[in-house]
Amino acid sequence: MTRASANLAHNLATTAQDHPDARAVILDDMVLTYADVEQSARQLAGWLRAQGVGEGDRVALMLPNVPAFPVLYYATLRLGAVVVPMNPLFKKREIQFYLEDSGASLLAAMPGDDAVAAAEATGTQLLTVGPEGLSAYVHGAEATDPVEEIVERAADDTAVILYTSGTTGRPKGAELTCDNLQSNQLATTETLLHLDSSDVVMGCLPLFHVFGMTCGMNTAFATGAALTMIPRFDPAKALQVIERDKVTVFEGVPTMYGAMLAAARAAEQAPDLSTLRTAVSGGASLPLEVMKTFEDTFGATILEGYGLSETSPVASFNHPDVERKAGSIGIPIRGVELKLAGPDGAEVGSSSADDPQIGEICIRGENIMKGYWQRPDATAEAIDDDGWFHSGDLARRDEDGYYFIVDRKKDMIIRGGLNIYPREIEELLYEHPAVAEAAVVGVPHEELGEEVAAYVVLAPDACATEEELIQHVKDQVAPYKYPRTVTLIEELPKGATGKILKRELRGS
Ligand code: AMP
Repeated sequence: MTRASANLAHNLATTAQDHPDARAVILDDMVLTYADVEQSARQLAGWLRAQGVGEGDRVALMLPNVPAFPVLYYATLRLGAVVVPMNPLFKKREIQFYLEDSGASLLAAMPGDDAVAAAEATGTQLLTVGPEGLSAYVHGAEATDPVEEIVERAADDTAVILYTSGTTGRPKGAELTCDNLQSNQLATTETLLHLDSSDVVMGCLPLFHVFGMTCGMNTAFATGAALTMIPRFDPAKALQVIERDKVTVFEGVPTMYGAMLAAARAAEQAPDLSTLRTAVSGGASLPLEVMKTFEDTFGATILEGYGLSETSPVASFNHPDVERKAGSIGIPIRGVELKLAGPDGAEVGSSSADDPQIGEICIRGENIMKGYWQRPDATAEAIDDDGWFHSGDLARRDEDGYYFIVDRKKDMIIRGGLNIYPREIEELLYEHPAVAEAAVVGVPHEELGEEVAAYVVLAPDACATEEELIQHVKDQVAPYKYPRTVTLIEELPKGATGKILKRELRGS
């Protein structure tokens, strides 16, 4: 494994030297080469330094996928400062919480009242990025001297603080070190994506989320691949961009694959995705039906991986060079160990699907965060004395060492003392031809503790009654498992990456 230096800013600098004219960022008609991005990052680093930003200071980036994101990200890292990514859809209250908790000295955002109000309320400097999302539009940046040098960082210095709710409670900042991000980026590039400068990577996952940040931006910028951006995911647009830019690597969450299939069906002309050589899914379980239909329709294989913000993110993957097991999150990646821990903490061994032994996934390795920012209590709860990070996800491991997620610890439904794993019921619902999306949750029940409730979005032009869907599942599972209610809704509540927010369904 080769690593020039701990600071990720070296990755961009080296790529700009080796591939100065290669496209770094594409946003429709706007194209920046690696030389452009490196030059802009140096220039903006100068401007940030003139505002007083220095080593260890936090800089909040509240931006959609626009060229200014990577420019500001690498400009901040260049100074040895820490990036705090934030969702650009946040409202004042949320922005204020992030700024106060991280103690950010500067907030970079697109024009908007909420950012202005939160910056004022917290006394944080505000950098308004031009509506085009180009760094060159940062007022006054040209007037400062560019920063030529890259501040040296130690391997375990924090590079990024990523907010996540973890398994419980309010958002906490996962401190990802230079080494966490470098090792995860390298393993992803070399052993999972086999990425090089001829690749075009789709940037439709938000860059402020760990999946898009590491697997999309950091891998592209370390190899000279092009990153073609969509500021906010739109399935029809994604299909169009894959064709237009001859995208070779697509990374997405399961709902994106489902949405692209629906958009392809609705399109007048079948989209041509033949340039895709790798499609990656993560962030949530990929329903087998979605995987199969996508592969049959587009002829691209989807490889599923697994990870969390706290693990930088990739922990396991269906490696391209070994057998892929559909429905599995694969095997641990290079430099990472996985094990299953039972309720008493004892290790759970391999088991078959017929007689599954379930345990919580624990992860140890180069990718595990340093801890939660200023939350030693929460850190101690998540990472044990032997360095194992407890994920809160429940899984089974087969004889070949492949892991199969059955659900999150708290997603598990306990109905009258019997455990029900929502994934199993969701898979059955997805098999019904009228179902486009499904989520199964436990809702409070006086006698049984919890009852199984399903929320379903029907495919366009499809029709099915709630009774019919209940019967469809009832026919195929033990009597305690089928949903007693199926609610048909127009849209499932989703987080920034498109992940279904089950907590909101439980509360509804
Ligand atoms: P986040 O912290 O937002 O990155 O979310 C991490 C969580 O996403 C994990 O704890 C899992 O519950 C879930 N997750 C990630 N990848 C997968 C996957 N392939 N299958 C099922 N759940 C996943």
